[in-house]
Amino acid sequence: MNPAHYVDGTFLHDEAGAATFPLTDPVDGTVRGKVPEATRETVNRAVAAARTALEKGWGRGSTQERAAALHRIADGIQQRFAEFVDAEVADTGKPRDLAATVDIPRAIGNFRSYADLLYGRPERAHTTEIPGWSTGTGEALNYTVRRPLGVVAIISPWNLPLLLLTWKVAPALAAGNAVVAKPSEETPSTATLLAEVIHAAGLPAGAFNLVHGHGTDAAGAFLTSHPGVDAIAFTGESATGSAIMRGAAAHLTPVSFELGGKNAALVFADADLQAAVEGTVRSAFTHSGQICLCTERVYVERPVYEEFTAALAERARALTGYGPMISAAHRDKVLSYYRLAVEEGATVLAGGGVPHFGDARDGGFHVEPTVLTGLPQHARTVQEEIFGPVCHVAPFDTEDEAIALANDSRYGLAATVWTRDLSRAHRVPPRLENGIVWVNCWNLRDLRTPFGGIKDSGIGREGGEYSLDFFSEPVNVCVRI
Ligand code: NAD
Repeated sequence: MNPAHYVDGTFLHDEAGAATFPLTDPVDGTVRGKVPEATRETVNRAVAAARTALEKGWGRGSTQERAAALHRIADGIQQRFAEFVDAEVADTGKPRDLAATVDIPRAIGNFRSYADLLYGRPERAHTTEIPGWSTGTGEALNYTVRRPLGVVAIISPWNLPLLLLTWKVAPALAAGNAVVAKPSEETPSTATLLAEVIHAAGLPAGAFNLVHGHGTDAAGAFLTSHPGVDAIAFTGESATGSAIMRGAAAHLTPVSFELGGKNAALVFADADLQAAVEGTVRSAFTHSGQICLCTERVYVERPVYEEFTAALAERARALTGYGPMISAAHRDKVLSYYRLAVEEGATVLAGGGVPHFGDARDGGFHVEPTVLTGLPQHARTVQEEIFGPVCHVAPFDTEDEAIALANDSRYGLAATVWTRDLSRAHRVPPRLENGIVWVNCWNLRDLRTPFGGIKDSGIGREGGEYSLDFFSEPVNVCVRI
């Protein structure tokens, strides 16, 4: 497929003289299409179309109408499910069953869950009543009206392309905003299919717009520094978040950021060790470690350290069928960390290099699932986000030490605690400096719960009401009686 921009209800295919860039298959390195690079003019048109859609009444209709529209979008994805799976697999190289059981169903779930949230509470997006009488100078009735923010820019990454895009698009539309979205330049295909589905669902022209292109000094930056944008919802690297914030600062544009992580798992000696090993195989190696929630640091209580580490390494060495890194550049970055780990003194218990398949995949961007030990806590490999299939395992002696090690990070996205001690299971999570703590599980998600990170891992929370709070503004109305 050759992705297209979608602006003001129209798909822009092959604009005369427009620049394009190649779309590469990460499985074998071949070029499989071309992507249009949005100019500043295209971004300006998209922002203007979004504003016009709001002026013409998008966002002022009833919440039931918007809930119905969200369900139509979910239906549209469902009807074209196989096409969406194909496109996601082609862009990312991820295993098909991952796309078919996680990415695409979650995208559908994102639209349905916000539709249900709106429909169940028809008043939510517009009027939350706070009973309140009297002021110092007389009787009054106060109530709160929730209004949309206006034109919202949504910038998404390549690792879970449709899932993370729709995680923001659904609540933004639910709250009555008009959207201009830019997916990652690496993964434009399912975003284009989503635009087709939204078009078919009959949303008014300009309520949803899509532009493709790069980030720095390109479509992403044009959009996030645009004076006509009222809010920015971004998922990606922490350094990109800083860059976007600098551009947004000029117009004091509010931001919601889901950023990087260097997530820790704490394995206590009282844990179900087999479950902890299997859980860590999942949390470290799912999607070849290219999920923001993936575990890259594992701390294991000393009495079970050797047994756990040996079992994890054995499982890592036995993994097959894993997908590639998203690009040659990302593969090179991950491999540079594998080399750095050795320079920093790591013992490589599993992986550490590039697999050889003896087929077309050898032209792609795979790296081996890797288990490291022996690094000091301050090593760059232990401190910096690698975003590949790699984790470092280190021992600890006390609960306090485990918590201190987990918290010794500039990031604060997610942590996992493995224990059968009920008190510990409740005592440890609030002491961990993270937005999300899983106990005896990983990435078990209820879409209504707050999702996000602290420290360099993000600003704000998304999920359920938390997203609707970001994507709408409470207005106090005070009526003198
Ligand atoms: P990235 O920051 O390189 O790119 C993300 C998006 O930002 C892309 O669409 C890109 O084009 C755009 N962009 C880049 N520079 C920009 C700029 N100056 N202005 C505006 N837009 C710009 O991230 P990535 O490599 O696509 O994704 C991987 C990163 O995302 C990892 O750090 C990962 O931890 C993080 N992530 C976080 C979460 C979360 O929920 N916290 C989820 C997934 C991924």
